[in-house]
Amino acid sequence: MAQSAPLILRIVASSVSAANQAGKIIRDVMSKGELGIVDKGVNDLQTEADRTAQRCIVSSLSKQFPSIKIIGEEDQGGQECPLPPEWLVTDSDPGVLNLQCPKDLQNVKEEEVVVWVDPLDGTSEYTQGLLDHVTVLIGVAVGERAVGGVIHQPYFEYQKFERPDLAPGRTIWGIPGVGTGGFEPRVAEVGKRIVTTTRSHSNALVQSALDAIQPTEVLRVGGAGHKVMLLLEGKAHAYVFASAGCKKWDTCAPEAILSAAGGTLTDMLGRPYLYHASVQHLNASGVLAAATKEDHAWYASKVPDSVRQKLSG
Ligand code: AMP
Ligand code: MG
Ligand code: MG
Repeated sequence: MAQSAPLILRIVASSVSAANQAGKIIRDVMSKGELGIVDKGVNDLQTEADRTAQRCIVSSLSKQFPSIKIIGEEDQGGQECPLPPEWLVTDSDPGVLNLQCPKDLQNVKEEEVVVWVDPLDGTSEYTQGLLDHVTVLIGVAVGERAVGGVIHQPYFEYQKFERPDLAPGRTIWGIPGVGTGGFEPRVAEVGKRIVTTTRSHSNALVQSALDAIQPTEVLRVGGAGHKVMLLLEGKAHAYVFASAGCKKWDTCAPEAILSAAGGTLTDMLGRPYLYHASVQHLNASGVLAAATKEDHAWYASKVPDSVRQKLSG
């Protein structure tokens, strides 16, 4: 029964439903073709889909969990803007509600929870029609730790459908200590070093870290969510981004799912990111992630001192 499940499970279960709805909004905006693009800074786009998906997620979660803190990328806040009532989500994923909650999270109160929302990760790619790269990210933190995550891919295998907006998308979740769901974890091929990195935010430092690692292949794709999906599905061994630029809403959900699957996400120096409400939003020292702890340690050992020094703020 929904009300009797521990709070953390209820938040993750509701996030699954909210992320699905956000995915519908993203497909809807694209199919109507009025993207309403705004540049928030340098190479940092926002569209009508980012704005409406954020309002949907923030309004839906804050209505169900009024005392949790929600920090979304598109910070005008969902609470103030009216949302068409049909976009508001009140249901939750029954499979997640029935999971066994880790002991240390059983009595968490709403006031202790921070939810990090990236309503559309990979906006630049979305505007360019690279629909596979787009994800919706909802990360749940208690104290400093990422304890749950949801990644929705609105255009998962959309090529199998007559039109992209007919694709249902796919939603995956992860809770460290419990497990993952919604996808089949796979291990990347032994003997190769397939590294995924940014396609639209590269610079000399990003490249110098890649050069030092000497990958057998580099996959330049958009979005932190999409890159972590490549790790989870065994399509890449490591996600290496030696630059500031990602924010906590980019990494909270992917980190939770990756660690639930046995992997690790840190900064380029191997230090964990923290997710409490007052932490700085910018992940100033880059991202290094891998699907296994061993791979993570190996890639961390290859980061050159020159890169470490530039990112060790
Ligand atoms: P990317 O790997 O470039 O697709 O970036 C992953 C996430 O981090 C996306 O949400 C980007 O918008 C964000 N990001 C990375 N680098 C930057 C940057 N230099 N400026 C703004 N956002 C960035
Ligand atoms: Mg993002
Ligand atoms: Mg975004």
